Amino acid sequence: MKSWPADKVCDDARWGAGNRARILSGPFTGALIYALGCVFGIAALGPAGCGNNSTAQPPDAMMQPDPVGNTPSMPMPYTPSYPPLAPQVLAGSGSILSAPRVVPVFFSGDKFQAQLTAFIQAYVTTSTSWQVLKEYGVNTGTVTPPVVLTQTLAASISDTDVQNFIAARIQDGSLTVDAQTIVTLFYPTTTTITNNGSVSCRDFAGYHGSATLASGGRLAYAVVPRCGLEPVSALTFAVSHELVEAATDPLLSAYNDLNDPYSLWTLNYGGVEIGDMCQNLADPAFSEKNVGVLARVWSNTAAAAFGNPCVPAAPGPSFFSIPVHNQLQVIQLNNKLRNIEQISITAGQTVTLDVRMLSPTKPSPTWSVTPLEVPLPGAGGTGVSALSFAWVEAPGKQTASGQDGVTLHLKITANASGPLGYTSFRLESIGPTTAGGQTETDWVGFVVINK
Ligand SMILES: [Zn+2]
Repeated sequence: MKSWPADKVCDDARWGAGNRARILSGPFTGALIYALGCVFGIAALGPAGCGNNSTAQPPDAMMQPDPVGNTPSMPMPYTPSYPPLAPQVLAGSGSILSAPRVVPVFFSGDKFQAQLTAFIQAYVTTSTSWQVLKEYGVNTGTVTPPVVLTQTLAASISDTDVQNFIAARIQDGSLTVDAQTIVTLFYPTTTTITNNGSVSCRDFAGYHGSATLASGGRLAYAVVPRCGLEPVSALTFAVSHELVEAATDPLLSAYNDLNDPYSLWTLNYGGVEIGDMCQNLADPAFSEKNVGVLARVWSNTAAAAFGNPCVPAAPGPSFFSIPVHNQLQVIQLNNKLRNIEQISITAGQTVTLDVRMLSPTKPSPTWSVTPLEVPLPGAGGTGVSALSFAWVEAPGKQTASGQDGVTLHLKITANASGPLGYTSFRLESIGPTTAGGQTETDWVGFVVINK
């Protein structure tokens, strides 16, 4: 059976995510936050965190002999249902925080302390945006007064240092925590945080994790580096992402997995916690009146109805462009056998993929769809771009368009001289909102390139 070293995937997923980031318009125009990529809240905190987290193990290279001599399972012919199964973030076996208690922690002289505290207060206690978390069992939260610390911080600290620091502040009485607490640390620009090979402000703009306390209990915490991010909306966006994920996946064992056949989307998205599912969109943020700018998050309920799954969403139609895979492959993912969809292409060859356009809105809007390759990291993945795309319906163009019920045809060519193995792509659908703007939904496809 195929497997993948979890710690390596953790690093690579983050790096890859950042490397593919797009600079986007919107509330953060010009802000560094998008240059950092979709690394907000990669939950994996080192190999242990990776192993029990959704950070996936992609299929091992099918063409390589299994080190223990097993014959890789053969892909099975597959006809997906239509409408397709809706992607759903799965609960996992771990607990959530039913009434999160956020403890904001600042270091002295933080000019955004008041604004960030006010944002968190409004977000977790009164905002309508937070209410979506009810479907995951998370209710209204509380916020303690900010804790302002005066310790001198090193220029570079590791995640282990962060955890030890939290433990020491609990020990000396600076922090009081309970089982619902999310300790939320805002570090100054002068401190760089490294986490399992990733570096703050280069690879991530925030993460959340779980620390083991002296008592043996576990504590959720979130880290938000400063990165020179201004305006403050870039920081509220980052911290909101971490708070929703810390609440729904505090110990990295709850909402961090997708239902089959979509479990491998985690590598394409840099995680499938409920924030990660929406972070790669052109419109990942929502500005709520009297609250601030926050990260949109995945709603299983909206997704199940084929509504715009990232909420809050701008008003308007929902739409999806769905790649029709023709093989089902068994893989090992976090020590479980999973079924993933794929198409296989012989290196140097071209395959034509059906792309079915689905909108439950009548009359259907017209929307555009653009493929974007997202190579999978590591030994079983190509690691580099290996595909080229062409639309039968839009020769010479990157983007095709249509309406509900249309099947577009996407010609995918695997580089003749490129690496063999797994790669993935997103079909990015962009369509109108009734507010006069545009919104994006994505669907993920997987390709295995063979000899
Ligand atoms: Zn995240």
